[in-house]
Order: sequence, then C-alpha cells, then structure tokens
Amino acid sequence: MRYIEISCETSETGIELLTAALDAAGISDTEVSDPRDVEEIMNKKESYEWDYIEDSVVHKMEEAPRVSSYFPEGEEGRRQADLMKQVIAKVTADVKAGFYGPDVDLGTMKVTEEIRDDADWKDKWKAYFKPFHVSEHLVICPSWENYEPQDGEKIISIDPGMAFGTGTHETTSMCLNLLEKYLKPGTRILDAGTGSGILAIAATLLGAGEVLGVDVDEDAVRVAQENIEKNRCESVARAEFGDLTKGIDYEADLIVGNLMAELICLLSKGIAAHLTAGGTFIASGILTEKEMMVQEAVTEAGLRMIELKEKGGWCAMVFEKPGK
Ligand code: SAH
Repeated sequence: MRYIEISCETSETGIELLTAALDAAGISDTEVSDPRDVEEIMNKKESYEWDYIEDSVVHKMEEAPRVSSYFPEGEEGRRQADLMKQVIAKVTADVKAGFYGPDVDLGTMKVTEEIRDDADWKDKWKAYFKPFHVSEHLVICPSWENYEPQDGEKIISIDPGMAFGTGTHETTSMCLNLLEKYLKPGTRILDAGTGSGILAIAATLLGAGEVLGVDVDEDAVRVAQENIEKNRCESVARAEFGDLTKGIDYEADLIVGNLMAELICLLSKGIAAHLTAGGTFIASGILTEKEMMVQEAVTEAGLRMIELKEKGGWCAMVFEKPGK
C-alpha cells in the first residue's frame, strides 16, 4: 500500500507543540523521531552487552527531531496531508507571533512530502534487533542474522512477533540469567506464562529433561510452539494453552514465572504445590515496590527466598522448596 508521508524537522520543544496541535486537529497518529531515544538505547548498550549497533542508528543521534505522519494515498489521505501542512504552518506562525512566549525555538520546521510504499519499510525495524549476549552463555539472535557461535555459546533464535519475550526486557533477561544459574540438567521445568517461549527454549538449551510452557493467550501458545520448533527444542519442550489460576496438571523441579506481582501472589500456593521437594521457583516481572508483597506471599506458601536480583526498577526472586 502507498502512503503520503509528511515530515517536519523541528526541535525538542517543537515535538511537544506540534504533536499537541496535530492531535487537536484530529491527527493523532504521529511518529516522533527523537535523538534522545537513541541516546537511551546507547546508554543501555552496556547493560545488555549488545554486540553491535547499526551505524545508521548511531547517526540518528546527530539528526534533528522530527514529527511525521502517514496518510493512505487517495482523496481523503490528500486532505489529511494538506491539513497536517496547515497545522505546521499555523504553529510556525503562532510561535513567530510570540503566542507561546519569547525565545521558543522550533528549529528549521522544514516540511517534506514523499510517497512511501510499505513494502519498502516492512523490514526496516529489523536494523534495531541485533544478536546480543543476555547471560554468560546465552545469545539471543534474530532469525535473519547469521551468527557464528563461539565456544560455549548457546543461541536462542527469536523473532519479535505477537508474543512478549525477546530477551531485551529486564524481567526476561533476569530470568534467563537465573535459569542459567539454577537449572540442573535433566530436570523438569514449568515455564509459567511462556509468551514467545524464550524461557522454555533457554531451559532446553541449558539441559532440561522436559519443559512445559503454558499461556492463556492462544497467539502466544502458537508463537511459542513455532519458536520451540525453530530452535529444534521440540523433543524436550512444548507449549500448551493453560490458565495458571485454574491449576495445571504438572509437577516440576523448577518453575519460572515472569508474571506480574499480583498474579505471583495469587498463584504462590499452587506453585508451591506443583514443585518437587527441594525444587526452585524463579519469580520475575515484579516492580521493585512490590518486592515485599511477593516475598511475603511466597514465603507464606512455604518456600524460602535464596536470591534477589534487581534491574531497572524490576526485581526477580529465587525461592526454594524445603524437603531434600
Ligand atoms: N516468559 C516470557 C513472557 C512473559 S509475559 C518472558 O519471560 O519474556 C507473561 C505471559 O504470561 C504473557 O504471555 C501472558 O499471556 C501470560 N499469562 C498471564 N496470565 C496468565 C495465566 N493466568 N496463566 C497462564 N499464562 C498467563
């Protein structure tokens, strides 16, 4: 499909003024390109141990901020595109007239118009997802990248799709690190809320004997099963529909749940019951301010906390079931 792209080069202040004015005119679907966002990614570079960042992404940091919008080619799209240009002209004139106060700098306010074909963009976002080390041995690699594993590296091939779990989120990366630390080869694993299946795949690569991933989201179950097969883990791991709040029929030596704090509290008794004696529970997806709440609920259910990890406002906890 073809679109009319209207794009306006502006300043940091201009982003706020323009998006607000466009929104008021009924154009709320805007794309903001802000060099500060790239700076944020660069700052995360160290914590995620990114191996590689595309040069074009780095160069974005030197570019001016930009507000763009896309309208389907055709009469209605043309009308909207012209409206956007009028709004930009109005904001520019208002600023010149001092309407927003003195010294407001909007930058160049240069407007460009181009016809874009979405067939050209479909793969553009791929430039932002590159192989990276998520733990000592685990490397996450999108399927379109060729990555030669070094000694001891285990590759998880994951494409960002409809389900949560590419490994870039703090909650997932903490789970992967804790799985690497606590998973004992040959054991049975339950991945509670499997999403993309990333933890089930990691558990298999780390030597689990059997892995079950469950999710309440049908799309996630399908994506997880596809990812399990793409990673050739299907002889050990499988993804199934399952609502943890309704109980599932599976006993595990290790349960990993990257869920929300409230849900973990709600499930704590069930989790304790599904763990074998001496088993491990890795809980993640917990905002640091909810740490105590989870710790109390899971302790109350009979497990003992043995590790607490924190990253970017999130925490993950490891519990042990007494008995061995
Ligand atoms: N394990 C992945 C995804 C975590 S997102 C990772 O670590 O990145 C949490 C997942 O839990 C979502 O896919 C969501 O659909 C699922 N979920 C939420 N409530 C659930 C429930 N009651 N039973 C099973 N899965 C649930």
